[in-house]
Amino acid sequence: MAKVKIAIVGLGKIARDQHVPSIAASPDFELIAVASPHHGLEDVPSYKSIEALLQAVPGVEAFALCTTPQVRFDIARFALEHGKHVLLEKPPGVTVSEVRALIDIAQRNAAVLFASWHSRFAQAVEPARSWLAARKVLGIAVTWKEDVRVWHPGQPWIWKAGGLGVFDPGINALSILTRLMPGALALKSAALFFPSNCETPIAAQLSLSDPHGVITQVELDFLQTGPQTWSIDVETDAGRLKLSMGGTVLTVNDEPVPTVQATEYGNVYAHFGRLLRERRIDVDYAPLQLVADAFLCGRRVAVDPFIE
Ligand code: NAP
Repeated sequence: MAKVKIAIVGLGKIARDQHVPSIAASPDFELIAVASPHHGLEDVPSYKSIEALLQAVPGVEAFALCTTPQVRFDIARFALEHGKHVLLEKPPGVTVSEVRALIDIAQRNAAVLFASWHSRFAQAVEPARSWLAARKVLGIAVTWKEDVRVWHPGQPWIWKAGGLGVFDPGINALSILTRLMPGALALKSAALFFPSNCETPIAAQLSLSDPHGVITQVELDFLQTGPQTWSIDVETDAGRLKLSMGGTVLTVNDEPVPTVQATEYGNVYAHFGRLLRERRIDVDYAPLQLVADAFLCGRRVAVDPFIE
């Protein structure tokens, strides 16, 4: 089968680090153009906007939207209304209502829409899910602590409304958690810590309940120096499961469980290829809903200004 002609919109860190090499390695896609206001690729036709790109390269079939979240909705709507298929980087929107509207627009235009939660494609997530499916979960602790100064230098959009602050990494944890747990999770309470000069929180604590009353405690911190922690610890009736390193390492009762070596974004593009062949929409906004609910009910605590 011919490769799907895809274009990237938003040539920032994640586009360069993951999307460009993953498309190059994919048997399903061929990168034919890029749209980004201030950047381009030397060997790929590059345009300042999606409008200019589509005018010059009307044969593009799909877009990978790797922009900052705040501008993603209008770009996605434009692409879908032109009948193009769309992969959304996470988060799929700034609000839940944006994402629901995009599903509607995709359906009306018979286009494929994929909300790509990359952390769900980490190699140990599905093995963890299978192991948990046969056990009774008693309690969960999510610890997602990283240093924003190391991972997000020069990204002021994170601190603007819609940029999510600590939920930019934290939503990755929630995307894994909502994949591991079979029932809908309800947000029960939250505390959000806002630097006095930021519109988004720098730390957060959440408490969630599953349909059986099993509690998940979530600790998110964007100021973690030293060792970084991206872990989910699950207590079950058959012992402890631990997913660490962002979903790439699995242990059960402290014993390592071997997993098949794979890259998150290789899996993301393989899944997008499948969705295109099956003409399917795959948009789960449960992780974004939990973040939105934390903003709805969360107790707000003022903390020191953030100095980059
Ligand atoms: P980034 O480095 O700041 O890049 C964002 C890019 O968006 C910029 O390069 C900018 O292009 C582009 N952009 C802004 N407005 C645009 C518009 N109207 N049209 C087209 N492009 C536009 O941010 P990032 O780290 O790559 O993050 C982007 C998204 O990926 C975020 O949602 C983030 O959560 C997600 N993500 C990031 C990582 C990571 O490790 N950084 C990992 C996974 C997912 P110009 O530079 O040309 O102005």
